[in-house]
Parts: sequence; C-alpha cells; structure tokens
Amino acid sequence: MIDNLSRYAYNDLAFTHPRTEALALIRHTRGIASSPHLWPQGSTLDISLFDMSDKAKEYVKKNINLWQPYTNLKFNFINTNDGDIRISGKEDGTGNWSLIGTQAKQKPVYEPTMHIDLIQTPDRLNHSIRHEFGHALGLLHEHQHPDNNIQWDKEKLYDESEKLGHTKQVTDENFLNHPDSTTTITSAYDSTSVMHYKVPPEVTTDGVGVAFNEDISEGDKQFIASLYPPVPLDKPQIVLLSA
Ligand SMILES: [Zn+2]
Repeated sequence: MIDNLSRYAYNDLAFTHPRTEALALIRHTRGIASSPHLWPQGSTLDISLFDMSDKAKEYVKKNINLWQPYTNLKFNFINTNDGDIRISGKEDGTGNWSLIGTQAKQKPVYEPTMHIDLIQTPDRLNHSIRHEFGHALGLLHEHQHPDNNIQWDKEKLYDESEKLGHTKQVTDENFLNHPDSTTTITSAYDSTSVMHYKVPPEVTTDGVGVAFNEDISEGDKQFIASLYPPVPLDKPQIVLLSA
C-alpha cells in the first residue's frame, strides 16, 4: 500500500520519446517547487546509489552533478545505502519516480526514495535522472504549473494514458492537477524545463505539443539557483583577524 507520501511521488513513465528538435532556451527564472520540502540552505546531501553496476553509478552521478553548480548544496555520494537520498536501479518495473525534497526524510531508511529505470535509450535515461533529481531537490512538474498554456484534450489524454497502464486518477495527479498554491513557489512557466513532460500534439485540442526535454533548461538553472542561491566563487572571503 502506498502511503500519503505518494501524492508527490510521481511515477514518470508516459510520453518520453526521443526528442526530434532542439528548443531555444529562454533566459528567465522559471519553474515550480514545493516550499515545505526544500532542503536547508547549504546542506550536504548524502546520496546512496544501489542495485546498479559501478558503471551505471558513474552515469547517474554525472547526471545528478549537472544540478550542483546552480545550488548551494553539497552532493556527497556515499558507499552505504542509508543516504538522505536513496536511489535504486533495481529492475523491478517500477519505472522512474522520486519523492519531493525532504519528503525523503519521512521514509524508512531501508527504502529507496527514488527509482531510475536504467534500461532506456541514453536520451531518455539522461532526462529521467535529471528530472527525478529535480524532484529530489523539491521541484514539481512544470506541465502542472498553474500558468501552463497546454490545451489538453482530456479524453484523448486519458485514453493514451490508459494504454500505458495509468488510471484516470494517476493521470490527473501527474498531468492535469495544479499543486496547492499555498505550498508552492512558482515563477514563469517554462515549456523547455526538464521537469516538463513531453506533450504529444495528439492529446491537445489545438494540436500544439511540447517537445521532449532532455536537458536541464536555462530556466531550470536559474530557478534552482533562486531556491538555493549559490555563493559566487569570486566573492572575497571574509577573514577575521584577532588583535
Ligand atoms: Zn516527475
């Protein structure tokens, strides 16, 4: 039985086909995050990777570290399974999912807080690791941003989603519902965000879709930097001199 943490424990399986075109990046702070689930500023996050080969661990680690320069958090990869963020690569068919930020602290330490399906094409795997770790940092789904301009054809979306084994409730939770505005931090909607699902034009009423976003967007970088402001490297160090 899934506990009440599942509200934000997105299971990310649908519509992640390889992208066919690059999207222009737009330079604005953009995104949506769960304010109660942000990590304390300057935290060191212990990250455990298990049920995967050493080669897979390096691959996952490399993708996670793409977020680091835009935060004041330290990502500390550890060799034991009891980290703050516990990432399983077990081939158990549970797909790609993650808890949101500090929700991970509410899970028993012997349970994973994230799962990555390692059997994917490289572009999808890159997207999955970057997207799920975005959740682990407190980010929510960009396509559920209250200002998104997606003209969903709900019946078609439900039909397509059902073919992938998702119930109407799961589809509502992962595609359509807007997060509680009292517990979220939002800035402008960013359709290029790695936190955005691919939206096939077939499931919209205006035939306008959203491409598959493999990369962390400029908007993602600026938004995460607004949540965890990095200390500029060129900032002079303050030295206290005793008399
Ligand atoms: Zn997600």
